[in-house]
Amino acid sequence: MESNEKKTEELKSPETKSLNFLENIIEEDIRNNKNSGIILTRFPPEPNGYLHIGHAKSICLNFGLAQKYNGKCNLRFDDTNPTKEEEEYVNSIMEDIRWLGFDWENRLYYASDYFDQLYEWALKMVKEGKAYVDDQSSEIISEQRGVPTRPGIESSYRKRTVTENLDLFERMKKGEFPDGTRVLRAKGDMSSPNMHMRDPVMYRIMHATHHRTGNKWCIYPMYDYAHGQSDYLEGITHSICTLEFEIHRPLYEWFLDNLIETEYRPRQYEFARLNLSYTVMSKRKLLELVKDGYVKGWDDPRMPTISGMRRRGYTPEAIRNFAEKVGVAKRENVIDVGLLEFTVREHLNKIAPRIFAVLDPVKVIITNYPEGKIENLHLEVNPEDPELGYRDVPLSREVYIEKEDFMEDPPSKFFRLGPGREVRLKGAYIIRCESFKKDDAGNIQEIYCTYDPETKSGSGSQKKVKGTLHWVSAKHAIDAEIRLYDRLFINEFPDEVEQEELDFKVNLNPGSLKVITGKIEPGVKDAKPSDKFQFQRLGYFCVDSDSTEGKLVFNRTVTLKETWTKLKDKTD
Ligand code: ATP
Ligand code: MG
Repeated sequence: MESNEKKTEELKSPETKSLNFLENIIEEDIRNNKNSGIILTRFPPEPNGYLHIGHAKSICLNFGLAQKYNGKCNLRFDDTNPTKEEEEYVNSIMEDIRWLGFDWENRLYYASDYFDQLYEWALKMVKEGKAYVDDQSSEIISEQRGVPTRPGIESSYRKRTVTENLDLFERMKKGEFPDGTRVLRAKGDMSSPNMHMRDPVMYRIMHATHHRTGNKWCIYPMYDYAHGQSDYLEGITHSICTLEFEIHRPLYEWFLDNLIETEYRPRQYEFARLNLSYTVMSKRKLLELVKDGYVKGWDDPRMPTISGMRRRGYTPEAIRNFAEKVGVAKRENVIDVGLLEFTVREHLNKIAPRIFAVLDPVKVIITNYPEGKIENLHLEVNPEDPELGYRDVPLSREVYIEKEDFMEDPPSKFFRLGPGREVRLKGAYIIRCESFKKDDAGNIQEIYCTYDPETKSGSGSQKKVKGTLHWVSAKHAIDAEIRLYDRLFINEFPDEVEQEELDFKVNLNPGSLKVITGKIEPGVKDAKPSDKFQFQRLGYFCVDSDSTEGKLVFNRTVTLKETWTKLKDKTD
């Protein structure tokens, strides 16, 4: 797969968009008064993992269309497989959808709510000779199904009588048979070019406790048998899903045609799933990263999960904007993860208070600044939002600046500090480097500067310098743990591996987390988890939930500018 830089640049611009194909369909349906003009969509997650950015796209689409067209959107847990599903996932999914800003009101459903009805319908099909119990193993069944270009082989159990099928299905339900010994299959068409129509399995035996129905059932409906009927039972008008389900649609429609008399049908529409560069998005792979300890949990800030992004400091607005920008496609593509980071930056720029933080400090002593003097400077909270006013920032004789803002022997284009050079301490004064001290190993230990008291920011001083540095007063600064996150994978397409015996984990970025201690402006000492800041000149950071009474922990949400290309060049 190839990425498309030109496309990313286009998507960044806020130009107004024409209707997407789903909006066109819905507007047409409304004009024709189809379903009396009602629009009812649904978001149907399987509670077998935490939601990721791809699900966020689907949530924004389903809830967004409902909002736009005065409709509603249901939340339905597709909980047909008791062995993989857990209450923890159900709760996390609800939290994530609410956090994204959407509300299913009182329309919370579970496919398991329909187990009784689905069973009745299965009985109906058995009685009408449209379904049969097959005693063959799943291996034989899939072998007999064959390949699309040749007809499959009909099961020898297909000719069972209705009476025998009813008896066996009843006994499957009662728990008389072990797992995997029998299934209920629909009599489809074993020569159909669509493999899903070749006598699909409707029920399998699983002696497993379900997170909601407990031990009531030991047969469970297959997703393909449950999905269309669940949509029907809820009165869904537009059942929107990803492209891989296009080929299942004839089967969903076939089941309903066999079970339902009314004219109403939920109509399924497919769109291309969201793929992101530098990201894996299958729940199975994300689960592996969590279970095997490659990350610290589902909400590790490096994960593409909604909970990970929340902890990282992404905002719901940014994610919704991103979903809007990528739009709805009919063909598979890969979106540049840089576009997501761009929308995060775009929103944080508007809302994040500015502060000074020095991540790799070196001490500057302002030799002509009186000992013991402290000036309280009033600096803008956010130049993008003047209403937020000013914050107090103390200045004293000793300040920290970034080590990389000083060079012993700087080239002429280096507009920061060096012997004899002048820079402005942002919001304070212009200082001039007079000398410096090194330790035995040759590291810069202290830098000695003088300041010009006539150059205070805002005083109307005409003196100009090329460089402005962020800084913190040494005696006021608070120490904080800073977690510098980077992309979790070094490869643009982590699923692509060169050797067959390797998998996506070889593409994990060994430098995806670096932990340092930084010096922070004292005004933020009472910041709370999830509070967001711009560390000036460095990036956006948010307070992590690991923070304790005496110690703040910050996550780097995103750098100020796209720095990945630079980093890649360095490592190559
Ligand atoms: P995964 O393939 O990541 O394991 P899934 O499709 O099995 O996910 P579900 O819980 O079944 O996960 O998904 C719920 C809904 O989210 C479905 O309608 C599905 O089509 C949609 N969805 C899942 N992944 C994406 C994606 N990458 N982009 C857009 N929609 C997605
Ligand atoms: Mg699925």
